[in-house]
Amino acid sequence: MRAEIIAIGAELLGARRPETNSLYLAGELADLGIPLRGKSVLPDDERALAAGMAAACRRAEVVLCTGGLGPTEDDRTVAAAARALGCPLVRDPRAERRLRERYRRRGRGLRAADLRQALRLQPARWLPNRLGSALGQWCPTPHGCLILLPGPPRELQPMFAAQVRPRLRRLAPPAALATRVLSIAGLSESEVDRRAAPLYRRVANPATTILAVSTPQVELHFRARATSRRRAQALADALARRVERRLGRAVFSREQQSLVAVVGARLAARRQTVAVAESCTGGLLAAALTQEAGSSRFFRGGVVCYSDDLKVALAGVAPASLSAHGAVSAVVARQLARGARARLGTDWGIGVTGIAGPGGARPGKPVGTVFIAVCGPGLSTRARRWRFFGDRGLVRRSAVQTALNLLRLWLD
Ligand code: ATP
Ligand code: MG
Repeated sequence: MRAEIIAIGAELLGARRPETNSLYLAGELADLGIPLRGKSVLPDDERALAAGMAAACRRAEVVLCTGGLGPTEDDRTVAAAARALGCPLVRDPRAERRLRERYRRRGRGLRAADLRQALRLQPARWLPNRLGSALGQWCPTPHGCLILLPGPPRELQPMFAAQVRPRLRRLAPPAALATRVLSIAGLSESEVDRRAAPLYRRVANPATTILAVSTPQVELHFRARATSRRRAQALADALARRVERRLGRAVFSREQQSLVAVVGARLAARRQTVAVAESCTGGLLAAALTQEAGSSRFFRGGVVCYSDDLKVALAGVAPASLSAHGAVSAVVARQLARGARARLGTDWGIGVTGIAGPGGARPGKPVGTVFIAVCGPGLSTRARRWRFFGDRGLVRRSAVQTALNLLRLWLD
């Protein structure tokens, strides 16, 4: 049993109105264990809607439509559904009485167009709406059902919860979905795919998706279906474990987590602290390290030493190193890391120096060249040269994430 969602409304195709109903419905379907095979956004055009609904009803057993049930001229959903299913519309006297009553209470006159809301697809049953005038409809189709729901989220959600969810639960075969996420750092999306694809390519359950989060962070999502939540989780976990063995230390979490959360937790668990001395990232690394509440447990502070004289004054970089190797060098990165650690009194120190661009390239040091050094207990200070690509913002973000990942690897 599979589902499709059609969000209806020309405004949803524009740039101003976010389409959120399908997100709500997708979450509900996931909870019910009904896989969503696709969704579409269509304008209030009767012909296009009818074609979309008919196609969706051929592909999926459960078709959920939202919007276009109201009384205005652009509300074409019911007429389109009648056309798609080839079934007549009937005027329902009880729905008509309800409408007249509702409009009378609000002191509004009832126009002929308003009465369209009392038109029901002949085989359908009404879904009551306590919060608006448009009723929903549940209509059987040759191999499933077409469900019409109102557009406003505050009407749709209670209607779904009270009227649709229980019915779908009865129809859906007992099935559950479970997900396992591997958070990965230090490998590109294509490298992750190259190593992991042979394991998941021909496996339909769990279904695997790969997601680039931010350089150098990638996520693999394994979504499994089974007759119980526990079985589904076991399936997803089993494939994740096999993939994890392939990826080795690049996997930094078996959950959807940020690098900084993992680094922070590991530092806090060891009761250790870190300090940073940053040049080209201008404080972004310190900002990342303080992103989550509770970061004072492991982060003591940092220096932003953008100019050469402040690298000397604040981080203890040797003037001779600056003149011999330049500010963007492994030597200076190491001195920054050691300076941060010694002067700020921490267990770990990180130094970052590089060329974020767009200007500033030197011979042999193109834009995107960044040296990152880490020093810590029982570790000789290591510096590595990186080359990041993209604009200034991307180079700087990549440097921050890479620095966090290096610290994570040393902590492991
Ligand atoms: P009404 O009786 O209020 O006219 P309706 O079923 O005809 O209800 P629409 O006219 O399509 O619904 O939409 C009403 C409003 O609901 C829209 O202006 C929009 O703000 C919101 N809405 C509709 N569809 C969506 C959607 N898919 N996601 C988020 N909001 C939506
Ligand atoms: Mg409307």
